[in-house]
Amino acid sequence: MGMRFDIVTIFPGFFESVFAQGIVRRAQISGLLEVRLHDLRDFTHDRHRTVDDRPFGGGEGMVLKPAPLAEAIESLGIGSKKAGTKGLGTRDVGTKVILLSAQGRVFTQAVARELAALERVVLVCGRYEGVDERINELYCDMELSIGDYVLSGGEPAAAVVVDATMRLIPGVLGNEASGEFESFGAADAEIDVDVEGVPRSQHGAGGLLDYPHYTRPAEFGGLETPQVLMNGDHAQIRRWRREQQLKKTLHNRPELLEQAALSAEDRRTLEALRREQGKTGSCEL
Ligand code: SAH
Repeated sequence: MGMRFDIVTIFPGFFESVFAQGIVRRAQISGLLEVRLHDLRDFTHDRHRTVDDRPFGGGEGMVLKPAPLAEAIESLGIGSKKAGTKGLGTRDVGTKVILLSAQGRVFTQAVARELAALERVVLVCGRYEGVDERINELYCDMELSIGDYVLSGGEPAAAVVVDATMRLIPGVLGNEASGEFESFGAADAEIDVDVEGVPRSQHGAGGLLDYPHYTRPAEFGGLETPQVLMNGDHAQIRRWRREQQLKKTLHNRPELLEQAALSAEDRRTLEALRREQGKTGSCEL
C-alpha cells in the first residue's frame, strides 16, 4: 500500500496542476502515493458556506473558524487528542495531522524523511490570519513551516511537503538510491568511496549541497564543461565532485559544514579552499 496524504483546504483547485505532472503524477498512477483533497466548505452548514470569522481581541483580518476544520478532520476518522471530546482515541500511530503554519518547526529533508516513513499524513492549510488555535491543540501533532516567510495560504506549503516527501517513498524515484545522494542527504550517511562507476549524484550524502551538473553540448556560451568529466576516470570524477560540493557549501551555506560527515580528505580540501578564499580576499570561489 502507498502513502496517503489528505489535504484540507478552501482551494482544492490549487492542487490540480501541481499533482498532475511529473514524478508526483507517476507515483499516484503506480499506487505508491494517494492524495485526497477535502474542501473545507463542504463542512459548513450555512447558506454562505462560511469558513472564517473576525478575531477575538480585535485586529486585522479573519481567522478560519474551528467547527468546519474539526468536522473535516473527524470526517477522516481522526479523533481529538483531548479527553472528554468526541472521537478521542481514534488516532493511528502511522497517521500524523500537520498544521501548515509560519510558526511551525521548519520543514527540512530530515522532516521529509520522518514523514515518508508514515502511512498517512493529514495537511491542514490555513488562510487569512491563520487558524483558530484550538484546532492546533485538539487535532494537530505538529506545526510545520516551509521557511521564514509568510505565505497567503498553506496550500503552496502543502504542495512542497507532499513533493519533497513522496520522492523519498521507496520505489518512487527510478533509481532507489538517488534520493540519498542529493543536497541535504542524511548527515550520518556513510561516505562510500568504493562505489563502482559513477552514481547519479555521488556523495550528496553527508549534509552537503549537490555538485554542479553538465550535459551536452560540451561547450556552451563560450564555457567549456570541466575536462575531468569528459575523460571517464571515475575516481577522479568522484574527487572533483566532492570538492565542488565542499566549495558550493562553503560558499552558499557554510553553516551546513558543521553538521556534515566529513572525511580527513574533505577537511584538507576545505582548508585549501578557505586559504584560497583568504588569499583572493573575496568570497567568490
Ligand atoms: N498571521 C500569520 C500568517 C498567516 S498566513 C503570521 O503572521 O504568521 C495564512 C496561512 O498561510 C497560515 O495559516 C499557514 O497555513 C500558511 N502559511 C503562511 N506562511 C507559511 C509558512 N512559512 N509555512 C507554512 N505555511 C504557511
